[in-house]
Order: sequence, then structure tokens, then C-alpha cells
Amino acid sequence: MQTIDNYDFAGKKALIRVDFNVPLNENFEITDDNRMRAAIPTIKKIIEKGGSPIIMSHLGRPKEGPTDKYSLRHLVAHLSELLGGTTVKFATDCIGDETKKIASELKPGEVLMLENLRFYKEEEKGDEAFAEKLAANGNCWVNDAFGTAHRAHASTAVIAKFFPNDKMFGYLIEGELNSLCKVMDSPKRPFTAIMGGAKVSSKITIIENLLDKVDNLILGGGMTFTFIKAHGGNIGGSLVEDDFIETALRIEKLAAEKGVKIIMANDVVAADAFSADANTQIVESDNIPAGWLGLDAGPRSIDEMKNVIENSGTILWNGPVGVFEFDKFEAGSRAVGNAIVAATAKGAFSLVGGGDSVACVNKFDLADGVSYISTAGGALLEYLEGRVLPGIAAVQQ
Ligand code: AMP
Repeated sequence: MQTIDNYDFAGKKALIRVDFNVPLNENFEITDDNRMRAAIPTIKKIIEKGGSPIIMSHLGRPKEGPTDKYSLRHLVAHLSELLGGTTVKFATDCIGDETKKIASELKPGEVLMLENLRFYKEEEKGDEAFAEKLAANGNCWVNDAFGTAHRAHASTAVIAKFFPNDKMFGYLIEGELNSLCKVMDSPKRPFTAIMGGAKVSSKITIIENLLDKVDNLILGGGMTFTFIKAHGGNIGGSLVEDDFIETALRIEKLAAEKGVKIIMANDVVAADAFSADANTQIVESDNIPAGWLGLDAGPRSIDEMKNVIENSGTILWNGPVGVFEFDKFEAGSRAVGNAIVAATAKGAFSLVGGGDSVACVNKFDLADGVSYISTAGGALLEYLEGRVLPGIAAVQQ
């Protein structure tokens, strides 16, 4: 398979699909440039190897065609800065003769950014003729947008057919895939997944897929109470999804059949309101008084979770085990994070992914202690569900 490292970029115009969908303030200043920074190693490497990077991305959700608010021109100066002052040219259209001409005249090392792909409805429709026009701007296609890899859009997947022998992943996707494979395909055992967050309904497919892979499954956060209610526990006013009670029982049965140990909070921090300054008490998770709600794991549960995590060889964390946004209910998620860092220091491989667990890692300042942090959102969740991602398949086929 072709890679950034083994492909000869000399004299080539390299179309790179990146995810530069960054937040801008009302003055069009970038308020978080992490997504841009993530693609810099790939762009730099192509420049270093004598290629001309042509940057393709979407920005926001433009509905009515070209709209200045969503123009990628707002990103040009910052990209140039991130590339150490390299001049970045800008094409006001992502397709067409004029753009093709600018692209064809690029000299080795020159960078071109194309206007927002989503100014054309054809992009999200995965229109083949549009993909062909995009492809006409370059000699090869590099997919480095993991955040949109679950979409079969023109620039994220369909374009691949115009570069059967000249397509590859960028370093960002390569890194994501390497880490995800370590976890999902060849985990060092025991493998523990921590699934938290608000609702069981949004995590059900991932949980089912993980039951075939993990040794331990820690279930935390709001979803716990659907399981506890399923066994007749009193959950007070805690979050519950009555429609998923049967599902909860099915998951437990499946786990037992597959020899997966499920760990759930048996004591909880209960609050008299969903509020940062609520009154709290520690109670058994199946005996929460009426009017109180379970918002974090209790001390006994935290000890059990810590013990399992610290003795794991591979750890996947998706979703907080309590309402970590309020300091009173962050102890469970903080302890999970610390245990992951301790296990990683002893040689475990740990992957944290999904917006809220990444927010936990940042709140508790643990980023340096985990093996890999995935920021991919929807694409990561679909990967964990076991689905084929079009943007990945398009390169691998
Ligand atoms: P999700 O987006 O499904 O991963 O859910 C993340 C959210 O779940 C966070 O904002 C947490 O505050 C919330 N959460 C975690 N534990 C609980 C709980 N016991 N009750 C209600 N919400 C919770």
C-alpha cells in the first residue's frame, strides 16, 4: 500500500483532504486550531518530498452555495503561519478551469488551498462528476480527514476511483488507524472498555460490538440506572430510558455468555438536584431515595473500577462516569482517568475517544499520560461500532 513515506511526491500536485472545520469568531478569527495543527505533519512532509500540497476541506454547513462566512480564505494566513511562513495560495473555487490552471502552475513546495467543498451540494451527495472535477486538480489523493471518514462524500471517498494507483492516508489517519487496530484487533489482555455518558441508547451498538472483544466492561454515568432499574432497583429521579430495560438485560445476558465481566456502580453520589451546588449523599445504587438522582460513582465503585483498570493491558475510554462538568460529581471520572494514566505508565495501551472523555482528560490535565487521544467524534463511534468507514475503505480497496 502507498504511504506518505514511500510515495514519490517529486513534481506532483497532491490533493489532500483535511478536516479544517475549525470554529471562527465573529471577526473570522480561529478560536481553536487543533484540527489544522493535526494535518501539518502530512503537509510538511509532502513539501519536503518536492510535492505541491493542494488543500481541500469543508468549513461549517453552508446551505446556499458560496457564503463569505464559510469561506476557507479566512484560514489561509494561519495555515501559512503553521507552515513556518510558507506562502499559501488560494483558489476561490474548488473546481473549474481557473482553479485547474492555478494548480497546474504550482511549483514544488508551493501550497494551494481550495475554496470550501460544501459550496457545492455535489460534495455531500458524493457526486461522481464533481469528484472527477476535483481530481482534475492533482496527480494523487491523500486522505487525512479522519473526522469525515464516515462520510461517502465526493472528496472523502468517491474521488479515490480517479487515483487507483496514487492514493494513501495522511499521518493523522494512519495514527488513528494504528491506535484503533491495537485496541480493536490485537489488544494486550486483559482488555477493559469504560463506556460512560448519559444514555445507553446512543452507545448500544458499540457495547454490543465490544462484547466480542473485551474482558471487562465498565459501564458508568447515566446509563447505569437503566440497568439497575431492570433489576428492580430504586433509582429515585436518576436518568433512565425505560424503552431500553429489555436491552440492558440482553446486554448482561450476552456478556455472561461471552465471559465478559461487567462492572457497574454499586454505590453512587446522589444529589437532591441536577446542579453544581446540590446537597449530596452516598447511597447504594439500587436504593436511591425519591427525589434524589445518581450523578457520580461512589467510593466503593471507584475503588473497584480503579482496580480493574490498573490491571489492564489495553484500555478504551468513551464517556464520563459521572456529571464531571460539576466539580462535586467529577470524582469518578477523575479516578478513571488517573487509573488509566497509572496503567499506561505500567505498559498498558490506552485510547481515549469521544468528545466528553477528551474533555475529561483535558479538565484533569491527563493528556500526556494516555497513549492516544482520538478527537474524531462520529467517525470514531462508527469505527467502534464495527462499521466500515467509506473514507478508509476507499483508500484500502
Ligand atoms: P454522552 O454524550 O452520551 O457521552 O454523555 C456525556 C454526558 O453524560 C456528560 O455531559 C455527563 O455530564 C453526562 N452524565 C454522566 N453521568 C451522568 C448521570 N449519572 N446522570 C446524568 N448525566 C450524566
